[in-house]
Amino acid sequence: LLSNRLQAVAKMVDKNARVADIGSDHAYLPVELIEKKIIDYAIAGEVAKGPMSRSKADIDKFGLSENVDVRLGDGLAVIFPEDRIDTVVIAGMGGILICDILTRATKDQLSNVETLILQPNIGEPLVRHWLIENGFEIVDEDILEDEKHDYEIIKAHKTANASNLNDAQYLMGPILMEQKSSDFLKKWHRKLNGYNKAVSNMQHAKKIDIDKINKMKQYIKYVE
Ligand code: SAM
Repeated sequence: LLSNRLQAVAKMVDKNARVADIGSDHAYLPVELIEKKIIDYAIAGEVAKGPMSRSKADIDKFGLSENVDVRLGDGLAVIFPEDRIDTVVIAGMGGILICDILTRATKDQLSNVETLILQPNIGEPLVRHWLIENGFEIVDEDILEDEKHDYEIIKAHKTANASNLNDAQYLMGPILMEQKSSDFLKKWHRKLNGYNKAVSNMQHAKKIDIDKINKMKQYIKYVE
């Protein structure tokens, strides 16, 4: 059974996509996508030997070894052009690590990739910047609260002319801002309270850092 977070990631995967789930850990996501007949082939990439061997044993046990290739390797190094992977999923890591994995990918590894589905645990604006700066446009987003943490999922397509976002869109997500779901409003009301408290604390501090206060005020303006 997938967590609500991984279910929301799974929902973003197109029917019949050829998926590489990078940092797959237990390979729950590829197994779910295959069992639900959304896709019939995936690579589960994992850099750590322990999880990789456990997933391999589980996948053999469930008779899914034709459908899920478990591969040991760093980031997109587990993908080859002949795999015809068109969708890369990277979920459950920080935004810095996700961007680092994508930046280190070679042209060959990304050659067939049309869709990225990314679920950073933190650092969502960094991920949106990476996408726009590297020729992807954001086509879908989701946000959910699960086990007291807010998770955002960002789906992007390769494009010849990625249009830039404004600062508020980088921070909060262009599609999430349009949808204004209840989890989105809850997250940003909470953040707004936090930013306001931070400004008030900084204004009462012994040493006032005016640049920091102005930056925080800018965030408050975007969120409001
Ligand atoms: N994707 C799963 C999920 O969302 O539940 C697992 C997330 S788990 C917190 C992160 C996994 O990414 C770990 O199993 C870790 O070993 C793996 N990982 C970290 N850096 C990686 C890299 N450079 N290449 C492949 N896997 C990596």
